[in-house]
Amino acid sequence: MSNPGGTLWVVATPIGNLEDLSPRARQVLVRAAAIAAEDTRHTRPLLRHYGIRTPLVAVHEHNEAAVVPALIARLQAGDDLALVSDAGTPLVSDPGFVLVRAARAAGLRVAPVPGPSALIAALSVAGLPSARFAFEGFLPAKAGARRARLAALVGEPRTLIFYEAPHRLQEMLDDLLAVFGAQRSAVLARELTKLHEIVLDGTLAALRERVGTDADQRRGEIVLLVAGNEAEDAQALGAGRRLYRLLCAELPPARAARIAAEFTGAPRRALYAAGALDDVPDGSA
Ligand code: SAM
Repeated sequence: MSNPGGTLWVVATPIGNLEDLSPRARQVLVRAAAIAAEDTRHTRPLLRHYGIRTPLVAVHEHNEAAVVPALIARLQAGDDLALVSDAGTPLVSDPGFVLVRAARAAGLRVAPVPGPSALIAALSVAGLPSARFAFEGFLPAKAGARRARLAALVGEPRTLIFYEAPHRLQEMLDDLLAVFGAQRSAVLARELTKLHEIVLDGTLAALRERVGTDADQRRGEIVLLVAGNEAEDAQALGAGRRLYRLLCAELPPARAARIAAEFTGAPRRALYAAGALDDVPDGSA
């Protein structure tokens, strides 16, 4: 009988509290022939905590394409391998996509060992609508590209989830305020499952104020959630965008935005943001 090959186990690991490793994840990590880890220095303390001695292989965004063929060869030879990232679920704003795609293309078994992920942990405690949500990961670091992405999301009715680095949090909140308006509800979830865990909710204006005056809120690991644009707002925005663009052919942008906002109820700032982007689909086709 031909060798069916080993399994690539995609294993979620804790996002702060080491006790959040599931018993099944531990068993898979113990039994695997090797653990492919984003940063072996980061994964070692977790393995030490659980007395796991499985050898580690580094697989990160800079070497993933180069090491994948050797890992696929090991799987084809019958080894079971585990894939972990520094924290949470691999492939979620983390490496692993190239390996998982290659393993699937080779007809190998790829199996999840689900567990922590910061976006789901944050959503589960945010108190924002959670039936539908859109995960945006990290937005571009450059201001122009970041604002363009936010402008494209302004009518999004689903709860929006972002990852953000602490040193960019104030800039990100400034941009969110400018594009989504001061009154949009938002949640800042920081250091989840860790000693200084905190979940702050309020309007974007209130959160911006708190982060500006309290340096502690600009530290650690951060998930930002923004309430979606409710259906009526989204409709008003669509109508507002179309009217704004028509009026811009005849009037200066400030007047066009004022009239379009007054007529449709869409927020004026959102119309400017949309007007700056010619390629934002507005559903008017
Ligand atoms: N794969 C991970 C997951 O499943 O959540 C995400 C990896 S991404 C490189 C790291 C980002 O996730 C951090 O910059 C932060 O935005 C978020 N994050 C990770 N751990 C967190 C925590 N304990 N509290 C809040 N956010 C966290």
